[in-house]
Amino acid sequence: MNKEQANKPAHWHAVNAEAVVDHLKSQPQGLGDDEARRRLEQHGPNRLSEQKRRGPLQRFLAQFHNVLIYILLVAAVMTGLLEQWIDTGVILAVVLINAIIGFIQEGKAEKALQAISAMMSQKATVRRNGQEQAIPAEQLVPGDVVLLTSGDKVPADIRLTRVRDLTSNEAALTGESVASEKGTDPVDEQAVPADRVGMAFSGTLVNSGRGEGIVVATGDDTEIGRIQEMVAETEQIATPLMQQVTRFGRYLSVAIILLAAALVLFGVFVRGYAWVEMFLAAVSVAVAAIPQGLPAIMTVTLAIGVRRMAARNAFIRRLPAVDTLGAVTVICSDKTGTLTRNEMMVQSLYSGDRTYEISGAGYKPEGQLTLNDEKINPEDHPALLETLRAGLLCNEADVAQDDQGRWQPRGDAMEAALIVAAMKAGMNKHDEQEQLPEIDAIPFESENQFMATLHKQNTRSLIYIKGAPEKILEMCERQRNAEGDDEPLEAEPWEQRAEELASRGQRLLAIAMKPANGERKLDFQAVQQGAVMLGLCGLIDPPRQEAIDAVHRCHEAGIRSKMVTGDHASTAKAIGLQLGIGDGETAMTGRELESLSDQELARSTPDVDVYARVSPEHKLRLVESIQTGGHIVAMTGDGVNDAPALKRANVGVAMGIKGTDVSREASEMVLADDNFASIAHAVEEGRTVYDNLRKAIVFILPTNGGEAMTIVAAIAMGAALPITPVQILWVNMITAVTLALSLAFEPTEQNVMQRPPRDPHAALLTPVLAWRVVFVSLIMCAGTFGLFLWMQRIVEADVDTAQTVAVNTLVLFEAFYLLDVRHIDQSVLKPDLLTGNRYVLPAIGLVVLFQLIFTYVPFMHRAFGTAPLEATTWLYIVPVTASVFVLVELEKWLMRLQRRRPGEAAEESAGAVR
Ligand code: ADP
Ligand code: MG
Repeated sequence: MNKEQANKPAHWHAVNAEAVVDHLKSQPQGLGDDEARRRLEQHGPNRLSEQKRRGPLQRFLAQFHNVLIYILLVAAVMTGLLEQWIDTGVILAVVLINAIIGFIQEGKAEKALQAISAMMSQKATVRRNGQEQAIPAEQLVPGDVVLLTSGDKVPADIRLTRVRDLTSNEAALTGESVASEKGTDPVDEQAVPADRVGMAFSGTLVNSGRGEGIVVATGDDTEIGRIQEMVAETEQIATPLMQQVTRFGRYLSVAIILLAAALVLFGVFVRGYAWVEMFLAAVSVAVAAIPQGLPAIMTVTLAIGVRRMAARNAFIRRLPAVDTLGAVTVICSDKTGTLTRNEMMVQSLYSGDRTYEISGAGYKPEGQLTLNDEKINPEDHPALLETLRAGLLCNEADVAQDDQGRWQPRGDAMEAALIVAAMKAGMNKHDEQEQLPEIDAIPFESENQFMATLHKQNTRSLIYIKGAPEKILEMCERQRNAEGDDEPLEAEPWEQRAEELASRGQRLLAIAMKPANGERKLDFQAVQQGAVMLGLCGLIDPPRQEAIDAVHRCHEAGIRSKMVTGDHASTAKAIGLQLGIGDGETAMTGRELESLSDQELARSTPDVDVYARVSPEHKLRLVESIQTGGHIVAMTGDGVNDAPALKRANVGVAMGIKGTDVSREASEMVLADDNFASIAHAVEEGRTVYDNLRKAIVFILPTNGGEAMTIVAAIAMGAALPITPVQILWVNMITAVTLALSLAFEPTEQNVMQRPPRDPHAALLTPVLAWRVVFVSLIMCAGTFGLFLWMQRIVEADVDTAQTVAVNTLVLFEAFYLLDVRHIDQSVLKPDLLTGNRYVLPAIGLVVLFQLIFTYVPFMHRAFGTAPLEATTWLYIVPVTASVFVLVELEKWLMRLQRRRPGEAAEESAGAVR
């Protein structure tokens, strides 16, 4: 590092580009692999050294920073003052165990999320050994030749050597959000970063255009590394829903402490208990009623959900999106590649007033050109041949065979299809390029809807143009006829033919040429006039089968799918029909959308599912308009200009393969496979996470409720305490780490995609569930207190034995209740009752083992004041506790019955959608 520092010129931006190349011992074709490896060793990977994370000790200590723990610590001190040493010891042990468990679980969740962010690491396009390749940005070294295009995040500090309309957004570095234009000229040494036009800085975003340059600094040596304002979004492991629950927990704690205080006063003054005993009772109630395990279980549930989504190709970038996903009501999706396979093939070609058909499959360059079902020789059809040649040369893609001999496209699928079509007519890119070398190009951008290339032809030059037919027709003045001569343009037959091909679901591309006089640069304005129309290609891009299924499943789930595409309206309608989106007749074009007022647009959205010839700005208006209807919108996007719409959508969905870094940065979620089906899967997992959070809550709260009620009942009746504080801590601890935790792994409910989306404003605990919590608390209280009294008064057992029965009753109640909770309102009486969640049985087994130790091991008798039970006692405990299972199933059944009655639809399934 130091060595390199020594020979670094003071200011890269102030030296001219060639000097930089020389200085870094690089060359236009890039570094060699060996040299790159050597430099990587010398400079280290291109990443910012992690900012000091919280150390393990700090993370551990943070576990104690919690209202509940404070209460427990106060209780420990108090019991100590009262010289109840065993209680003090147990309470402290619980505090410690709680902290250790919290520490481990939080660590796991954090690691799972980190692994996901690592999977989404940045890529960079470099030229090494004269070959362009995508490599992980971490492997960049000084001297590498990097290529930039619009939408890229700049992977290192780069001295630009070539630019074309390159602008970048340097807000990450300078705070200035207006795009700055880039060039290659050196600037004054003293220039501030914002003025260094010849530099592209790491972490900034390319807004438009293209560029090429030499890496001058990587990792911490970059400008952004130097100012150490790391932009990394290390987010908290929490979502709005979880924050809501945490807040609920805090209120609950306060209420419980007040209740406990009231209880002490009541006990001492009304019932005549001793202060010490009442104080212990108050501690019991407080400890009993606070759901200690809840936050940890919610974190784990969330982390598991995020991991499951990743396994199904949906990477969550911002955690709150997990909540939102479960509430999505409308999905707006791109067509090409997301709903369709993006395996394009030119099927029809219209040129010289004739329609040719091309056969074949995939990208294999084998197939026949036919006219009226007869095979033709392309050489006899000059207009066709020129169309194919133009398509071949006005093209940035490639096709090649992979290791297994399969033909694969590289770059844009549609352009690859044009190459294949030309190859079927006997041409090849290499030879044609030699004849007509490319000297300049205007690359395709969605909002321009065309692409143009300039070729050298002997002493003159020639321009090829391709793009959306409407756009190209506007540019043309003449057309090429079948004999190969140019004549004045007649637009109508072209438009007719375009409509015809599009209504068959084909994607359209028009191809044109324009003679030039030997200029060496393309002028954006001049290109758009006086061209000669050559031909019209119709490409098929079959819908993905998974997308068809996913659209159907979303429909069942009350989610509406909308297609938003830059493609022709007729194509969009036809493909939409195949997918089950829209009715095949209704579509709105971007132009129509523009002409509508906000109100008109909002009124139209319920009737339109297909949007065609839409440009990125329209997407933003569309999202806003759908949202005014109260919808929760997921929207896909891939380009730079999609970013505002992605940000605005409730869940912005970026494409992992063809998406730009800019779009990814603006999104909540990234699809690894660019597939619509993955969005549907993510929604399903989002709903599952929500379900499991509710299950955890509905499971944990009655345990606390039952315990608290039991103690309150005992005090009210003037009976001995059925459970001591340490025993309650025992119950809460062992059930939280076994039973409650197993719910985080509960698989997706079968009907999860057959019910309407949840109302995003509805409380987590619906009235039905709140009732369930009370109901089960009452059962637990009745059973526990009942058996306790029965042991004391009928069996005439001593208090220790009666308390041991009470503890076992509580724990077994929970074990049985756990099975009920596996489905929130469906019956659990199915063959997979015990096996559907593979953690349930081991959890119950473990709890039973703990209880046997608790009941029969002498050490436990001393620590918890328990006593061994006679075998026959279990004959009472088991049936009593099993009753909760039956009663809750009965309650669910009655609720279902109730709901089925017309006019009395329970609020639980009332969705926000229609
Ligand atoms: P989408 O991907 O949503 O279908 P695009 O904005 O990518 O829409 O494309 C819109 C239109 O622009 C296409 O229908 C096609 O006619 C034209 N087009 C697409 N890609 C290219 C390209 N690489 N070169 C020229 N024209 C293109
Ligand atoms: Mg596209």
